[in-house]
Amino acid sequence: MKDLKSYIRTIPDFPSDGIQFRDVTTLFGNPAALKHTIDLLFGHFRNDRVQMVAGVEARGFILGGALACRLGAGFVPIRKKGKLPHQTVEESYSLEYGEATLEMHLDAFGAGDRVLLIDDLIATGGTADAAVNLIDHLGGDVVGAGFVVDLPDLGGSARLKSRCDKVVSLVTFDGE
Ligand code: AMP
Repeated sequence: MKDLKSYIRTIPDFPSDGIQFRDVTTLFGNPAALKHTIDLLFGHFRNDRVQMVAGVEARGFILGGALACRLGAGFVPIRKKGKLPHQTVEESYSLEYGEATLEMHLDAFGAGDRVLLIDDLIATGGTADAAVNLIDHLGGDVVGAGFVVDLPDLGGSARLKSRCDKVVSLVTFDGE
């Protein structure tokens, strides 16, 4: 099996000039690479008694759903505003340009439940920070956060570590 990093495609200047988009659909499309990714995340969190995996729309759904099955946990979607049908909690956060809002169902899990946050990539950490706020709002215990890709120069993973004891990423890209 090749290095996981080699399965991630980089698209320059997407969605805007200067952004190096780290495209994990090429990793998802390779059966061995996808299985290896889930195996590695499972290995990191298998002993953390995870009850719920919270995945961030949309690539976090793919990883989080597969990982939840392996961990014997439930799955909670964290979605962009306006998509969830029942009562929600919401959290707005800043993007490079403008604002975005994430939502989670108000009854997604109970207070004290052990929740693992999953997304494909952490950059500035704004998305992860908003997701942790949502989990906190419901009284969940964030036992960890897992990502395929970390862009450490953007500082998100370092920031998240001050809120969550266990932050795991499988691949690192230096620079932006
Ligand atoms: P951030 O909130 O800055 O940590 O950005 C993380 C979210 O934006 C994740 O859901 C990623 O899927 C997406 N994202 C941010 N930067 C990139 C990038 N360079 N390549 C691919 N996805 C990205």
